[in-house]
Amino acid sequence: MLKRLLLICLICIPVAVWGLYKQARVLAPEWNGVSCVSDVICMENAARHPEAAALYEEAYASVNASLGAIENKPRAIFCGSQACFEAFGFDKAAAHTVGGSGIVIGPRGWKDYYLRHEMIHHLQAERLGVFRQWLSPDWFKEGMAYALSRDPRPKLSAPWGRYRAQFEKWYRFVGKERLWEEARKLYPQGQVATSPYHRFDYEYAVR
Ligand SMILES: [Zn+2]
Repeated sequence: MLKRLLLICLICIPVAVWGLYKQARVLAPEWNGVSCVSDVICMENAARHPEAAALYEEAYASVNASLGAIENKPRAIFCGSQACFEAFGFDKAAAHTVGGSGIVIGPRGWKDYYLRHEMIHHLQAERLGVFRQWLSPDWFKEGMAYALSRDPRPKLSAPWGRYRAQFEKWYRFVGKERLWEEARKLYPQGQVATSPYHRFDYEYAVR
């Protein structure tokens, strides 16, 4: 009886996760009707592979050169339609990174700075760990992605513009060399400063 229950659980839990947590589908995108044309690029429409590959390689090279080596190239899923993007559990954003598991690009996310933005989130997950990245303050993780992806938009909608300005202020103070070391001190979100650099986090958390 116990064995049977255990067997049912073993079968049901992954099925439930698959059904409830659409983002888990990044791990096996083929199940969402997407085909993987290389180890790192999956496409809804394989005919657009050259365009996707060029965007991917430019973002990878650019983030690697400016922010430090990416250890594992992330898998990127390029959706041409909104239905494909929504099948992975997203709707409003242009693109999304799921921890260290992969990047999903929606129909309006096929732009060089969006790819760099998501590649930066992937690097954050690698350098800080998925859990620490998740807990880090939004002004840091989103502000960094907007600021260092060379997003050309002079004005971003709220709260992204404020996050970008906050990150730029912190980054000027911390500098490139100490970026990751000081980023680790921002964890957990809202905790009182443990270093002089950390006071930016505290100031923004109490506002
Ligand atoms: Zn972002």
